[in-house]
Amino acid sequence: MPAYRDLSKEELLEEKASLEAKFQEVKEKGMKLDMTRGKPSAAQLDLAMGMMDVLNSTSDLKCIEGVDCRNYGVLDGIREAKQLLADMTEVAPDNIIIYGNSSLNVMFDTVSRSMTHGVMGSTPWCKLDKVKFLCPVPGYDRHFKITEYFGIEMVNIPMTADGPDMDMVEKYVNEDPTVKGIWCVPKYSNPQGLTYSDETVRRFARLNPAAEDFRIYWDNAYGIHHLYDDKQDHLIEILMECKKEGHPDMVYKFCSTSKVSFPGSGVAAIAASEANLKYIRKHMTIQTIGHDKLNQLRHVRFFKDIHGMVEHMRKHADIIRPKFEAVLSSMEKNLEGLEIGSWIQPRGGYFISFDALPGCAKAIVAKAKEAGLVMTEAGATFPYGKDPEDSNIRIAPTFPTLDEVKTAMEIFILSVKLVSIDKILM
Ligand code: PLP
Repeated sequence: MPAYRDLSKEELLEEKASLEAKFQEVKEKGMKLDMTRGKPSAAQLDLAMGMMDVLNSTSDLKCIEGVDCRNYGVLDGIREAKQLLADMTEVAPDNIIIYGNSSLNVMFDTVSRSMTHGVMGSTPWCKLDKVKFLCPVPGYDRHFKITEYFGIEMVNIPMTADGPDMDMVEKYVNEDPTVKGIWCVPKYSNPQGLTYSDETVRRFARLNPAAEDFRIYWDNAYGIHHLYDDKQDHLIEILMECKKEGHPDMVYKFCSTSKVSFPGSGVAAIAASEANLKYIRKHMTIQTIGHDKLNQLRHVRFFKDIHGMVEHMRKHADIIRPKFEAVLSSMEKNLEGLEIGSWIQPRGGYFISFDALPGCAKAIVAKAKEAGLVMTEAGATFPYGKDPEDSNIRIAPTFPTLDEVKTAMEIFILSVKLVSIDKILM
């Protein structure tokens, strides 16, 4: 079929009538499908059930340092967990602090501490008239919620195929001292599945911030979450790159095992320079006597080392790859050539990002809901929930079963087509 906008009004109305009939049919099935959040499916969670057996009442619960993991002690993580997460995030164990069960929580804490106590001796942000964060868009809604919560002004930075628009980033960071941070998901980004190019990472490392307390918030949530063995993205390691450029303190790197083991019951960490970690530890000693060492131990005993973890991620990929492929092939088969949307084919991560005709995203999500498919709210991928183009929709295919994904895509495609026709006819 030719592009929709090349069809006559009569042809469009005819197409619409036929699509409406199909939509009605699907609607009558009374489906309940949820593609809202990037959660692993039960089958993926089952992969880590062995973790329930690695510790039992007869286990030796001492960590390498000889500390009894059942008791208080070890503020920033047992050595073997540091090694595991350091390998996962490609830094030295000395550059890691292990936290609790959520990296988002670590990010919140990091911003919160900067608000109340500043960054390594700088003025606490709450005492400043204005604090800004750069937000590559589309991006992760929960990042934006953190900065919104603290009243930090967010500035949209468009994403390109190589990562954020670095001309804009350099201009803001190097010239505006109120810019204190930038949210980045540098590998298999949420929601586009894009990985920052080598040049983008190098330009990040070469930034010369106007603010001494500017930090890059490098959320490497999907660092080892490949979909394919033979087609993988590679990301330059940012801590080392910043060090080489003489800015060792400019970056905080966040990670967790949420989508490796169990979301909500994984292990999270921050990686940063020694100076940053020293400052963070000073605050941590007030905040906690230590995080869950039994969970750290459980993770190490289950995965053993990074090779075990990589092997485990292959099993995840085997489960989710067909779902990603079902979404992509459905879009290719049904939308290609119609010029009513575009999408990116990711090689990893948890999402597929779809850009509808401007002004259509909210209506598409609402239409899909009529037929029982709940998607991430349109606009959620932008600060303040406002997509200026009302175009971006995040598709999260991991949680439903493969059959459900296929049905969900039927509904999605019908919704995209119907809303687009209405838009063109307007
Ligand atoms: N960062 C990104 C980019 C995410 O997509 C998610 C979850 O979807 C998280 C962080 C949450 O991580 P955690 O479970 O470690 O808090």
